[in-house]
Amino acid sequence: MESSGGSAEAPGRGPRVLVVGGGIAGLGAAERLCRHPAFWQLRVLEATARAGGRIRSERKFGGVVEMGAQWIHGPSKGNPVFQLAAQYGLLGEKELSEENQLVELGGHVGLPSVSYASSWQRLSLELVADMASLFYSLLDQTREFLHVAETPVPSVGEFLRREIGQQAAEWTEDEETRKLRLAVLSTFFHLECCVSGTHSMDRVALGPFGEYTMLPGLDCTFSGGYEGLTGCILTSLPKDVMVFNKPVKTIHWNGSFREEAVPTEMFPVLVECEDGACFAAHHVILTVPLGFLKEHLDTFFQPPLPPEKAEAIGRMGFGTNNKIFLEFEEPFWEPECQFIQVVWEDMSPLENARLELQDAWFKKLVGFLVLPAFESAHVLCGFIAGLESEFMETLSDEEVLMSLTQVLRRMTGDPRLPAPRSVLRSRWHSAPYTRGSYSYVAVGSTGDDIDTLAEPLPAGGTGTQLQILFAGEATHRTFYSTTHGALLSGWREAERLISLQPRPWL
Ligand SMILES: Cc1cc2nc3c(=O)[nH]c(=O)nc-3n(C[C@H](O)[C@H](O)[C@H](O)COP(=O)(O)OP(=O)(O)OC[C@H]3O[C@@H](n4cnc5c(N)ncnc54)[C@H](O)[C@@H]3O)c2cc1C
Repeated sequence: MESSGGSAEAPGRGPRVLVVGGGIAGLGAAERLCRHPAFWQLRVLEATARAGGRIRSERKFGGVVEMGAQWIHGPSKGNPVFQLAAQYGLLGEKELSEENQLVELGGHVGLPSVSYASSWQRLSLELVADMASLFYSLLDQTREFLHVAETPVPSVGEFLRREIGQQAAEWTEDEETRKLRLAVLSTFFHLECCVSGTHSMDRVALGPFGEYTMLPGLDCTFSGGYEGLTGCILTSLPKDVMVFNKPVKTIHWNGSFREEAVPTEMFPVLVECEDGACFAAHHVILTVPLGFLKEHLDTFFQPPLPPEKAEAIGRMGFGTNNKIFLEFEEPFWEPECQFIQVVWEDMSPLENARLELQDAWFKKLVGFLVLPAFESAHVLCGFIAGLESEFMETLSDEEVLMSLTQVLRRMTGDPRLPAPRSVLRSRWHSAPYTRGSYSYVAVGSTGDDIDTLAEPLPAGGTGTQLQILFAGEATHRTFYSTTHGALLSGWREAERLISLQPRPWL
C-alpha cells in the first residue's frame, strides 16, 4: 500500500464515500448523502452487529429501557432530534405540545422526590432544595468565565468548591446540619459528573464550560425506545449501504490505491478492517467515539494524524457514566415518587476523600430514577459516573446487586427490604468500540480543540482533495455529548461533501 499523494475522483461517476460508524452521526450523514444522486457508491462500516451506537434500547423487564441516551435534551424547534422524531411520529402529544417546548430549565436537574441519608433518615426536602439552588446558581455563574483570558481557577470543580467554602464559612447552623448540607452538595457534584460524563468536576475546564448550549424544552423520552429513531433512519437507507460486523483497523490516507474491480481508478484512501477486508474510497466520514480514537490513535491512521489534531484529541475529555437498573417485584417507594436521591453523610465537596473502589464505589451513585411501572415489574435506574463507574463494570451482576441492596437497606433503615429480582447495567467503558460515555471539555483544553478535531484532512484541502472528514458528538462545539450534536455533525460533513458536487446549472 504505497503512499503517493492524493487523486481526484473520475469525472461523471460520483465519489465513493465510506462512513465509519453507524451511530446517529454516521446514519445521519449516510441518509443525507443517499438523497443526492452523486453518492450512489456509499457504505457505512459498523464494527458491531447493530446500528445506533450509544443509542441503545433494550427490551427487558416487560418493557423498554435505555442503556445509552435517554432524553431529548431541549426538545423544541431548534433541536434536529426532536424534529426528526416528530416527523417519524415517535413522540406523544405532550412532548409535541408548544407548552413543553417553551419550558426553560437551563440544564438544571429536577429535585428528588425523596432524599435518603446514610444514617437512615429522610432528609428535609427544603434543605435539599436550598442546596440545589445554591449548587445550580453557582453552576450558572461559571458562564461569566466564558472567553475570559484567565480564569481564577482551572476547573469547574475548584470554582464551585471555592465558592461553597466561602459560603459555608458563614453558615450559622449547628455542626450536624452543616455536615448534612455539605453531604447533599456532594451528591449534586456527583450528579454533575454524570451529566458531564467525567470522574470529577475538577477535570472539567472552567472557561469553556459555558459554551455548551442548552435548548428550550422540557427533556422528554421515547415511549417506544430511543432506538426507534435510529431504526427509522436505518430503514430509509438502501439495503446494501450498511455493512455490520466490520470493525475498521486502519485508515490509510494521502495515498494512491487501486482496486482489482476498478483497475483504472485511483483512490486516495484505503480503509483496512480487522478481518483483512479493504475498501478504497475518495472520502471517509469518520464517526467513531472520541474514547475509541484516544485508545487507537497510534495505529488507526496511516500516515499518523498531524500533531495539532493528535494533541487536541489527547487534551479533550471523555469519561464514563453508566446506568444500573434494578427490578423489584413490588415498589418500596411511594406512587408519585420520581427520583430517589442517596446522600452519604461522610462526604463533603470540601474534603478530598479518595474512595476506595472495592469498598466504596457505590458512594458515587447519585440515586435512582423511578421508571414508569411495567406490567409486572417495578424498575429503578441508578446513575454512576467516573472511575467508580468503571470499577463497577468489572464486578459481577451478583456483586452489584448485593452492594446496592445493602445501600438501599441502609438508606431506608429497613434491613428486610426485599432484594431486587434482577439487575441490568450498561458498561460503556468496557465497550471496545466506545471506551466511555461522552465527551467534555477537559482542563487544558478549549472549544478550539473540538473545532480542530472537526477539521477535515488533509488540512487546508479543498474540493475533491478532502479525504477524511470528522463527525460524532465530540466534534460539535456547542452541543457535544448529545444526540442532537452528533446528528448535526453527521449532517455537517455530508453537506460538506455535497457542496463539492458540481451544480447542474453551472
Ligand atoms: C449512558 C449514556 C447516557 C446518555 N444520555 C443521553 C441523553 O439522555 N441525551 C442525549 O442527547 N445524549 C445522551 N447520551 C449521549 C449520546 O448517546 C451520544 O452523544 C450519541 O449517541 C453519539 O452518537 P455518535 O454517532 O457520535 O457516536 P456512537 O453512537 O457511539 O456511534 C459510533 C459508532 O461507531 C462504531 N465504531 C466504533 N469504532 C469503530 C470501528 N473501528 N470501525 C467501525 N465502527 C466503529 C460504534 O460501534 C458505534 O456504533 C448518552 C450516552 C450514554 C453513554
